[in-house]
Amino acid sequence: MSDRRGAVIVTGGAGFIGSHACKALDAAGWTPVTLDNLSTGHRDAVRWGPFEKVDMRDTEHVADAISRFEASAVLHFAASAYVGESVERPDAYYDNNVGGMLSLLKACVAAGVTRFVFSSSCATYGVPATVPIDEATPQSPINPYGRTKVMGEQMLADVARQHGISYALLRYFNAAGADPDGELAERHDPETHLLPLAVRAALGGPALRVFGSDYETPDGTCIRDYIHVTDLAHGHVAALDALADRPTLALNLGSGTGYSVLQIIEAVERHTGRAVRRELAPRRPGDPAMLVADPARARAVLGFECRHSDITTIVRTAARALESQEANASIA
Ligand code: UDP
Repeated sequence: MSDRRGAVIVTGGAGFIGSHACKALDAAGWTPVTLDNLSTGHRDAVRWGPFEKVDMRDTEHVADAISRFEASAVLHFAASAYVGESVERPDAYYDNNVGGMLSLLKACVAAGVTRFVFSSSCATYGVPATVPIDEATPQSPINPYGRTKVMGEQMLADVARQHGISYALLRYFNAAGADPDGELAERHDPETHLLPLAVRAALGGPALRVFGSDYETPDGTCIRDYIHVTDLAHGHVAALDALADRPTLALNLGSGTGYSVLQIIEAVERHTGRAVRRELAPRRPGDPAMLVADPARARAVLGFECRHSDITTIVRTAARALESQEANASIA
């Protein structure tokens, strides 16, 4: 292990983005250490570095793990992340996301962490006055999930400043796709995300419900900026490196290109050669019409470029991951 760069704590490393980040950290020479309560993550997604089952709200256990693994840096992914669910269960979201953040920060201070990279979100911008969204856009979230992320950013900034921790706030747009090498997938239960649901509908699954067709967008459906999860993962590694000589970073991570729900459906139909059965449904509470990143600052500060975020690669990798999961499920 002597040639490694040291241990990095990855909270939520058993989840979709966290597991891809572990792979990217390992490739960059770090040893990722996953801390995850497995409430939504998967033990078998932890394939790079050690795993410890722990809830972020257990401050003592988290502090002990950070010290034992001699980690000086943390990537914090562990959180509840469904906009719709956050509207229905705000108390659970504040408990897990804000309570978890406070507890983790206390543990980081106790264990002497010096770098912290936080999974924030474009949901912190609410309904932006202009699109694309740059980092100077006021943060004015319109759902509890987005509010927990703004609070997390603020708590981190205050604690980090006081305790000399360098920190990055990474506001990401819609993570999608799956590991291009086929080693990891997106697995949510129940699945609520557009891409996997559209692929499932094409492969004969239930019809996709299109949430809202009367938005002020060219085709009436919501527009989002889909960024490949592997690009996002590399953005985290680049931010971690950049913190070696910068105390703070606040960056959007997106592709800079927006697709409507109907355009995503068309891309899935092109790839699979099959129709995506769909039905029009009411708007989903908490959904802004259009969220697209201005990726200029991440490019300038980190040299960040998307390599896998074209829609064809996103759909192809998402579809392959889903097909192999379904094949495994039918064998099991
Ligand atoms: N969406 C949809 N039907 C679905 C799931 C999502 O029409 O079954 C829409 C949703 O309203 C949003 C976009 O697809 O405009 C992306 O939603 P997703 O849940 O994938 O990600 P989020 O934007 O909530 O992070």
